[in-house]
Amino acid sequence: MLKDIFFKLNKKASDEKTDKAEKQETIMTKCPNCKKILYSKDLHKRLNVCSNCDHHLPIISTERMDALLDIDSGKELFANITSVNPLNFPNYEEKLASDKEKTGLEEALIVSHGKIMGSEAVVAIMDPRFRMGSMGSALGEKLARTFQYATEHRLPVIVFTASGGARMQEGILSLMQMAKVSVAIERHNKAGLLYIAYMTNPTTGGVSASFASVGDINLAEKGALIGFAGRRVIEETIKEKLPDDFQTAEFLLKHGQLDDVVNRVNMKRYLGTILKMHEEVV
Ligand SMILES: [Zn+2]
Repeated sequence: MLKDIFFKLNKKASDEKTDKAEKQETIMTKCPNCKKILYSKDLHKRLNVCSNCDHHLPIISTERMDALLDIDSGKELFANITSVNPLNFPNYEEKLASDKEKTGLEEALIVSHGKIMGSEAVVAIMDPRFRMGSMGSALGEKLARTFQYATEHRLPVIVFTASGGARMQEGILSLMQMAKVSVAIERHNKAGLLYIAYMTNPTTGGVSASFASVGDINLAEKGALIGFAGRRVIEETIKEKLPDDFQTAEFLLKHGQLDDVVNRVNMKRYLGTILKMHEEVV
């Protein structure tokens, strides 16, 4: 009995210690790049961009959407579209259920119709926390409907990509989304409407080779990893060592594959200005 009391006391002390450590971690955050200890509140205000070295820490899709859209201007679209398991892939349903619980999202993409600095747009943001932002049938459907909706309402589209590529649990159905989304983009384009593709960390595989690269304006976030195949696969295939900055946003900009690299802190002002200029032209 005495042993039980000690055990309880020890447990209480260790719980308090854990709580304290967790609290400290939420108050302060260490920048993984420059190692500076930052106030989490200040870091959050700068959209998770380090004030010391400008390193971009991950930001979740809903927070990015809130930061981008004018207050109370957003209306979520296609929120109920969610993945099924068309190939009966083992454990896929369980993995989807666990990602839904972890992220509070129904799919690896959220879409909103809202305003950025007073200009209307449809914004789609991928979330790499949900099945690594992989593109399955539901994600493809949501994106195709985004362009369809924007074409009907004559609105510009901004897509923030973050993806590990195609969703392997959906096999060929996943790859088919690349064509489906591309058709919807082309219809939007033929209607004379603006599409801004905005690649964030990481944008890889089939996503990088389709809708992420075919904007009228192609942007990327500072330091983002962007590429089709992995670095090691390429090095082994071509038997050459690749430069250190290979597959970074900055490397792609230097080689003419992007129009600009944007610091997340300037994201809203940057996109708002483009939309405003576009409104004045059309
Ligand atoms: Zn830093």
